[in-house]
Amino acid sequence: MLLLLDDILAGQAPNAGRFCGHCYHPLAPERDVCAHCGRSSAQTGTAEAVPRAVIEMHRRRRGREGLVVRTIAWGGLTVGVVAALVPIAFGNITWWSVTAFFALLAFFYLLSANLANSVGDALGYRWGQSLVRREWARFEQERCARDPD
Ligand SMILES: [Zn+2]
Repeated sequence: MLLLLDDILAGQAPNAGRFCGHCYHPLAPERDVCAHCGRSSAQTGTAEAVPRAVIEMHRRRRGREGLVVRTIAWGGLTVGVVAALVPIAFGNITWWSVTAFFALLAFFYLLSANLANSVGDALGYRWGQSLVRREWARFEQERCARDPD
């Protein structure tokens, strides 16, 4: 589902097909029960497209995830550049201070890339999830108000 939403966002998949009427998970033509939320199409109906609001929700979620990963990556790199400049700023420019500069830079580059991929991914995922939980609840409320059943 998330990958499909990514493709729709990128314009690589058409926003058309058969979707669960409750959660908009794709529904195969022969299936009547949603694999994601377990509701039957008899209960909720089916949708022919994912609503714009749901796609926007997904875009904002991906935005949050990316923001956290980028912030950690660039933050780590900035700290690294400052730390790498310390030996050069306080010592003479010698072979060892130049070596230390590049070694520290490489170290912080790898460290921030790693942190962005592990901690950043996990934090971004949770932050994105919290956004989806909140926005989905509001979306459901509005949907219920629109067509109560
Ligand atoms: Zn569903």
